[in-house]
Amino acid sequence: MSQELLKITDLSVEYRTDKETVHAVNHIHFSLNKGETIGLVGETGAGKTTTALSIMRLLPEKTGFIPNGTIEFEGRSLFDLEEKELHNIRGKHIAMIFQDPMTSLNPIMTVGEQIAEALELHNTDGKTHEQIQARVDEVLTMVGIPPSRKIAFPHQFSGGMKQRVVIAMALVCEPDLLIADEPTTALDVTIQAQVINMIRELRDRLGTAMIMITHDLGIVAQTCDNVAVMYAGRIIEAGTALDIYKGEFRHPYTVGLFTSIPNLREKTARLTPIPGLMPDPTKLPAGCSFAPRCPRATELCRTTPPSAYRSGTHVIECHLLEGKDGWTKEARE
Ligand code: SF4
Repeated sequence: MSQELLKITDLSVEYRTDKETVHAVNHIHFSLNKGETIGLVGETGAGKTTTALSIMRLLPEKTGFIPNGTIEFEGRSLFDLEEKELHNIRGKHIAMIFQDPMTSLNPIMTVGEQIAEALELHNTDGKTHEQIQARVDEVLTMVGIPPSRKIAFPHQFSGGMKQRVVIAMALVCEPDLLIADEPTTALDVTIQAQVINMIRELRDRLGTAMIMITHDLGIVAQTCDNVAVMYAGRIIEAGTALDIYKGEFRHPYTVGLFTSIPNLREKTARLTPIPGLMPDPTKLPAGCSFAPRCPRATELCRTTPPSAYRSGTHVIECHLLEGKDGWTKEARE
């Protein structure tokens, strides 16, 4: 039976300054079972990374606020944990791979020292120096780097190899949940596929649950069981990969995301970008946030936020589903 690992309920996140409040995440809900992968998809500024930072409890201390919502990990609220318990969870139970490998690597330590350090920080079972070194060698081999290279510094590696080191650091403690935030965006296209394949293989081998944050629907199709599409801080559509890719109804924004992918089979492989921009997160529209860009928007859309409607595993926030056969309004908020 599937076991719930992570549960996010009605989470909102704001960044506050003296002058304004940025509504980065607005009332999102999702859960993740052990060993499953969910893709968080959307344009830059949709709230994907803020969601990840909230799970890691790494929001900026002075400006990041959580006005409402809960995040439970293995049944415990992450908001109730002391700093020491959080420290134990980060790295050992939940690990994150950031977009740019250099934000995670220390330029003046060898890669072997950095992987060993990640292990030593959570060395609760008293591993000896030799056991730690053996584990460093093992995890380097897993990510395709010869252990003999553990004495090299980050600048001696290419971008793809640096990201492999970061993946090794994230996986060395065998976390239950891996959050990969656009892990290949900073890499050369030719090695993006290799890195994604490697993350997928390691996840399958270790049984790690994963949140894959990306704007690339191709990566989602290759890696995810479930998908949540984010727009202006909300999850406007969620379901299984099949619901999102083949569903009988899709959110107009998701439809736009798909039509903005070039179709290479057609001779005129044209990209049809979604016209307009995401709304200013300091002044969100009164109604549906997508209304200013939506080809199907009505007056109701401009004045009233849509409810969420469910059909089986598929959930969509859109007025067009009101009264539609097979869809029922979700009782939330
Ligand atoms: Fe478009 Fe209206 Fe649906 Fe929003 S609620 S996505 S504006 S049709």
